[in-house]
Amino acid sequence: MNILFFGPNGSGKGTQGSVLKEKFNIAHIESGAIFRENIQGNTELGKQAKTFIDKGELVPDDITIPMILDRLQKDDCKNGWLLDGFPRNKVQAEKLDESLKSSGITLDIVVEILLDREIAKNRIMGRRLCVQDNNHPNNIFIDVIKPNGDLCRVCGSELKSRADDQDEGAINKRHGIYYDATEGTLASAYYFKSQAEKSSLPRYMTLEGKNSVKEVSDELLSKL
Ligand code: AMP
Repeated sequence: MNILFFGPNGSGKGTQGSVLKEKFNIAHIESGAIFRENIQGNTELGKQAKTFIDKGELVPDDITIPMILDRLQKDDCKNGWLLDGFPRNKVQAEKLDESLKSSGITLDIVVEILLDREIAKNRIMGRRLCVQDNNHPNNIFIDVIKPNGDLCRVCGSELKSRADDQDEGAINKRHGIYYDATEGTLASAYYFKSQAEKSSLPRYMTLEGKNSVKEVSDELLSKL
């Protein structure tokens, strides 16, 4: 099962992506998490990416596209994958489509989480990052995933905030890119939506992101 997952930052994409990863036992590939691991490990890729990420800009395509296409070749993707955070613009969508077609890989499902920009912004500012896995299963504004006091509700480790999550200018920039339906991330989602309208695969489904985590995952599982 190969899946693309779209949703503005703060829509719960990561949380719902984990539901699908478990259901289908597939690799969950998050472009943002790969960049964060590299920044933490102080790698060359991390250094290059950090300047763009801190400003809320996209890391350039010549760095991001090969990074993701290479990642899809790894052994853990043989059983399927879920891509979260990629593609993020129309060029990335076209390159991904080209690469999948030339490797004979089918895209099965495209999920789009719908969420109003203002709600998404508030949610981002409540996110807390677990130092253990550098991801964010905690949010001080969402009851069911509230941290345990100051600590990660999943593993009890310390929490911190992502620098780009507390900077309103950077959040606005990231959302500007997401909601851009001409060249940005919605354009890349609609690129696959138009394929879904003409053929049986991929299947394109939308989820109502303002609902609770449980309601969104119930809707997701019922539509699969
Ligand atoms: P995320 O964790 O998905 O919010 O990603 C964090 C940051 O990583 C983004 O704001 C971008 O700077 C960068 N990034 C993640 N995915 C991509 C992508 N597909 N293309 C370019 N930059 C990306």
